[in-house]
Amino acid sequence: MESEIVPKITKMTVSGKKQSMGFEVPCVIAEENGHADTPQKGLSAEDASVTSGVPEAASKSTLSQVVQVSEEQNTVPTPVKKSGKTKPQINVKAELEKRQGGKQLLNLVVIGHVDAGKSTLMGHLLYLLGNVNKRTMHKYEQESKKAGKASFAYAWVLDETGEERERGVTMDVGMTKFETKTKVITLMDAPGHKDFIPNMITGAAQADVAILVVDASRGEFEAGFETGGQTREHGLLVRSLGVTQLAVAVNKMDQVNWQQERFQEITSKLGQFLKQAGFKESDVAYIPTSGLGGENLVTRGQISDLTQWYKGKCLLEQIDSFKPPQRSVDKPFRLCVADVFKDQGSGFCVTGKIEAGYIQVGERLLAMPPNETCTAKGITLHDEPVDWAAAGDHVTLTLTGMDIIKINVGCVYCDPKEPIKVCTRFRARVLIFNIEVPITKGFPVLLHYQTVSEPATIRRLLSVLHKSTGEVTKSKPKFLSKGQNALIELQTQRPVALELYKDFKELGRFMLRYSGSTIAAGVVTEVEAAVKAAQDAFPNWSSKSPLERSQILNKLADLIEHDLEAFAKAESKDQGKTITFARTVDIPRAVYNFRFFASSILHHVTECTEMATMGCVHYTSRAPVGVAGLISPWNLPLYLLTWKIAPAIACGNTVVAKPSEMTSVTAWMMCKLLEKAGVPHGVVNVVFGTGAKAGEALVCHPDVPLISFTGSTLTAQRITEKSAPHCKRLSLELGGKNPAIIFDDADLSQCIPTTLKSSFANQGEICLCTSRIFVQRGIYSEFLKRFVAEARKWKVGNPSDPTVSVGALISKEHLEKVRSYVKRAQAEGARVLCGEGVDSLDLPAGNEKGYFMLPTVIAEVQDESCCMQEEIFGPVTCVVPFDTEEEVIKRANSVKYGLAATVWSSNVGRVHRVARRLQSGLVWTNCWLIRDLNLPFGGMKASGIGREGAKDSYEFFTEVKTITIKH
Ligand code: NAD
Repeated sequence: MESEIVPKITKMTVSGKKQSMGFEVPCVIAEENGHADTPQKGLSAEDASVTSGVPEAASKSTLSQVVQVSEEQNTVPTPVKKSGKTKPQINVKAELEKRQGGKQLLNLVVIGHVDAGKSTLMGHLLYLLGNVNKRTMHKYEQESKKAGKASFAYAWVLDETGEERERGVTMDVGMTKFETKTKVITLMDAPGHKDFIPNMITGAAQADVAILVVDASRGEFEAGFETGGQTREHGLLVRSLGVTQLAVAVNKMDQVNWQQERFQEITSKLGQFLKQAGFKESDVAYIPTSGLGGENLVTRGQISDLTQWYKGKCLLEQIDSFKPPQRSVDKPFRLCVADVFKDQGSGFCVTGKIEAGYIQVGERLLAMPPNETCTAKGITLHDEPVDWAAAGDHVTLTLTGMDIIKINVGCVYCDPKEPIKVCTRFRARVLIFNIEVPITKGFPVLLHYQTVSEPATIRRLLSVLHKSTGEVTKSKPKFLSKGQNALIELQTQRPVALELYKDFKELGRFMLRYSGSTIAAGVVTEVEAAVKAAQDAFPNWSSKSPLERSQILNKLADLIEHDLEAFAKAESKDQGKTITFARTVDIPRAVYNFRFFASSILHHVTECTEMATMGCVHYTSRAPVGVAGLISPWNLPLYLLTWKIAPAIACGNTVVAKPSEMTSVTAWMMCKLLEKAGVPHGVVNVVFGTGAKAGEALVCHPDVPLISFTGSTLTAQRITEKSAPHCKRLSLELGGKNPAIIFDDADLSQCIPTTLKSSFANQGEICLCTSRIFVQRGIYSEFLKRFVAEARKWKVGNPSDPTVSVGALISKEHLEKVRSYVKRAQAEGARVLCGEGVDSLDLPAGNEKGYFMLPTVIAEVQDESCCMQEEIFGPVTCVVPFDTEEEVIKRANSVKYGLAATVWSSNVGRVHRVARRLQSGLVWTNCWLIRDLNLPFGGMKASGIGREGAKDSYEFFTEVKTITIKH
């Protein structure tokens, strides 16, 4: 027996429950993968092509997203309990085809100006389809007559609440299921009234296709189409939210006697507008209809006034002929919560459209925010329980193992192995709609993203873009005005789960509203997540014992060592250094950095003093600081990055590390080993990007209390300035202009080969390289002759050739800069004894265009010359004579830097005397680059602030506390 009053249609509503996402997490913004095209650096064509694959890999981790990932980007923020039973694997694609008798599922939203007759039109269509029984319809007719609103009867099929009936407007997004010949349609009847646009956006965000209803009556179409009407706004909105196919129901045609002219007038006006809004002409169909009369809805209209000129489809035929959208079933699971409610049984329910992937009953899901897992106990599709559901389905999930309070409209349920990003700050490309006031920095907006509606602020106006090419036409505009395309940075009040448009088109779009109107549509281009991930990982990591951390560090060292050859090759290709140097210096040292701090962290003791007379004992306690920001340069990429990561995490901090944008390949390779080594997710986060963007964002981030930086003095100045407002703890390891002082009692057989190395190793691109050689006059000529002769023996060429000692410089610009110093020295009257401009550089075939330079020795150069004062950072060294100990100390100290010095003499007393007086953080006597990592490393003056080493790094990466106990 047919039910009495309940229509036979299934119905759900989006209640629009206000979300309350709790905590706030400011975030860092990074940018496109900074890993620029790997410069040729003299690699053979074969080498270059191998290298080019790597930035591709690195680009997966673009932005400051958490890059502690396996190759498949398996980020697992919360440990997931494995469910005992293994689910039978389903072939979703095959099952989807079989489901619903082979009919495709389509989500349809109905949009249009408030009085265009949307609900009546669709209600009548449903009635004609037999989805509402006669009795119910009769009841509605009676009721609506009684209420004096007879024409609302059909609309009531869709409008649910009393208030809607009262006002005759649809408020929530009503959802109804009906079928056509080839499709099962989920119909969302979106409100047309201006006040309910947020609900409309929610509906449209979940739709595949749309019906735009316009009122054909004179004056009415115009009212909806003009400014202030919803026709245009809805059209723009659905297009911006990803709907590409549109059926325009030119409704109430009976009121204009089915006039062809009126139909044409409307369609031509709309056609122009829809084209501008981004709809393809072939994807828009116009159907003349009468919602009240029911003409041309489910069967072609028979009225002669219409049939004379209209031979096209009726509305139902048009719905049936929409192309079904691509279902992203192969992507990780995503469902945006549209509603959440308590069920009778255990757990609670959420509804929403599955945007990607699929789900089976019993599977674990991760909710973001709040970053917690639960189990899907049941799935309901169109009010029927099902075992699985897939992308495109509107479902209700019954969830257990999670508290309902934590879930709000806007949360995203996702695959725990591939979680969605959560942030409060992101970048986006936006199109500004009709807005009278210009948009400036600090502009408050409402962000509508999927089912989320969240207050946000436009934090930065980054650039104005050319509409079609996307090129930047203006950087840092003061304001944005209507019609402009722009890049902006947005900050939300509470964390929101977002995807990048390039990764997930369906989840990368949003709208911005201001004071009741939609002012822009946008796509997400960059999301920050690294600092947040590091913060989340901190409590767990910092509470591990030093021994537990030590074991993980050792494991990581083993894994890098196991892949030493691959790392060395990648470092050589990426940086230009010789494979020999990478194999014997860079990578072994990176391995040792982890082993060293894994061991040293076990052996620190804190201080204790006693005040016996006061009955007191004082002791110190050290604790990790929090999220450490680590920034490293390009010359010793993995070596220097791990020199920071190892002590930071050994001490219990979590890190966001930024390698140089010029050389990030080995950092990326290391990321892939983190998980295997047992480094928990979020402990080491690597952001790839340029210094100006990713680096500076880290420096300015309020939740990164300390920055360890190695790089140039100029950058350090900027970092100091930028971090000052936050009073950050800084460690700065900077450039050098390092002297070698060679007394006449030096053993030249040792001194010359070592000084060649200290001048030209790694192409002279080491901060510790010698670039000023002071030779006592008695041995000056002999030294010079032998030094130059030996320098000429250094082979320059293909970095992969094991007989080569000098590889390629980092970049063309850097090569030009280094060469320019030689030119300037010559112009000043100095003499170039070998190398650049003097000897010819014969490069092997395939390397001719590389950034190579011969070891270059300059003599007869004044101390004031830029070559004697500035850091050249290339294979260039200056040799000058001196007479006395006193004189040479003064001259050696006469530069702004103070990093490292070398003293050559067999007189022990002199060695000690000179070493003490040199303004230099490190002094090597009768050797170079021999390091005991236990002892402090760092520079004076412009070469840096702070020291690194066993004790120094421990002190930098921990906060000390003095505790007094009275007994
Ligand atoms: P750099 O200062 O240009 O860059 C170093 C790092 O800082 C890079 O990761 C870069 O992206 C980042 N960066 C740049 N601008 C930034 C900003 N505004 N905010 C935050 N981060 C920013 O240096 P480089 O050219 O990569 O490296 C060469 C320099 O490094 C030389 O001066 C060399 O002497 C020095 N260096 C010093 C040591 C040492 O231990 N003292 C070791 C190696 C290199």
